[in-house]
Amino acid sequence: MERGEIGEQLARVERWIEEYFAHPERYAVVSRVSPGEIEAMLPAVAPERGEAFDRIFGDFERIILPGITHWNHPRFFAYFATSAAPIAVIADALAATLDVKVMLWRTSPAAAELEDVVMRWLGKLIGVPEGWTGIIYDTASIGGFTALAAAREALDIGIREHGASGRDVPVLRIYATAQTHSHIEKAAIALGVGLENVVFVPCDAQFRMRPDALHRALDEDISAGKRPLAIVATIGTTSSTSIDPIAMIAEVAKRHHVWLHVDAAYAGVAAIMPEFRHIMEGVEQADSFVVNPHKWLFVPMDCSVLYVRDESILRRAFSLVPEYLSTPEQGVHNYMDYGLQLGRRFRALKLWFVLRYLGAEGIRERLRSHIALADEFASWVEAEPDWEVLAPHPFSVVCFRYRPEGMSEEEAESVNARIMERVNASGEVFISHTKLDGTYALRLAIGNLRTQRSDVEAAWRIIKEKAIG
Ligand code: PLP
Repeated sequence: MERGEIGEQLARVERWIEEYFAHPERYAVVSRVSPGEIEAMLPAVAPERGEAFDRIFGDFERIILPGITHWNHPRFFAYFATSAAPIAVIADALAATLDVKVMLWRTSPAAAELEDVVMRWLGKLIGVPEGWTGIIYDTASIGGFTALAAAREALDIGIREHGASGRDVPVLRIYATAQTHSHIEKAAIALGVGLENVVFVPCDAQFRMRPDALHRALDEDISAGKRPLAIVATIGTTSSTSIDPIAMIAEVAKRHHVWLHVDAAYAGVAAIMPEFRHIMEGVEQADSFVVNPHKWLFVPMDCSVLYVRDESILRRAFSLVPEYLSTPEQGVHNYMDYGLQLGRRFRALKLWFVLRYLGAEGIRERLRSHIALADEFASWVEAEPDWEVLAPHPFSVVCFRYRPEGMSEEEAESVNARIMERVNASGEVFISHTKLDGTYALRLAIGNLRTQRSDVEAAWRIIKEKAIG
């Protein structure tokens, strides 16, 4: 692409992005295409000759956009609602332009050192213990896997050298709850622990891990000769955003000398608000901690941070330096040493731009507004006799359902599933669902930069209409 051409085309894209961020609500929030529809519009093979930008961009608008579900839409209330701050989009364009691979310090000293600095900034803002090391991964699933791999290395049972098969190795156990995110089970598969060795510790009525039950499970396993690998506690579980009692769990972990991993992928950023700092109590006794700026910190996919108490264990687990990558620098982070990936995207740049552009106060203001909107939504649900809130809502997610008097549990499940389908088919609002102790629940998650009270009001109006209409 020639010099003038880059500017011309970027200007066109810039206008498009500006318009998109100004009016994401012009699109249906949930894509309405049928399976296979987008594929059918695309050629079966890549073009032999290069095509003009106009044609490519035209097809982006004509073919791709109709198949997009708009996470940036102010009425996206499903899963964990997230959104990209435009400043981070600009940062990502710069990162793609530089196209550095943040693997060795020398493959871009600024990228490695900015990651060091931004990890300390974020850690301080949310109260990660002093001296812990933060590393950016693509997702919490990978950060969680990496933490558990480090926990396995810390057991000193020779898996790095000798593997986990063909010799006498203890049965390893991971302790979680039914509310723990499923990536922990995937990590158990990938680490050779096995799904049957993920122990689901019972929860209390508010979906929080019971430390007494954890204690008992550990005692029983240890007496039976099994080896605890790690306990996974969550601040802000995926379904209901419940908060496990970290400090009490940390006591149990300490007594049994077990690695404690804290998954705060969604809710960890809430600790930036002094009134929420208490959610971090006990983390100082843990071994690892995950928080996702790409969830509730307005950083676009992907940007997840793993903090570890002792980075040397991560290096023990993952560092492997072939000759062609050996370098002499001392006292620097060669980030390839901390996980499976060699080349890594320059993700610190967009986090740096967001933290500077919004500032801690700007972030607090936005999170508080989401939490206030969720509280208000819950109060509307509670005020209606045919509706109920199904779990505490400490952050910005509300689990609720329609259940008029006399409706059986089975009927409530199918009725609420139908409500969700009809709401989402409207194209106006996108909500999701879960099950809490077997009870089908609708979920409304607020986390979008552009969501206003009027959007939440509209969601409640549409949900009620679809329940009776
Ligand atoms: N942990 C929790 C508590 C989550 O809710 C999620 C996803 O919603 C994850 C981990 C996985 O996040 P990621 O998509 O970054 O892997």
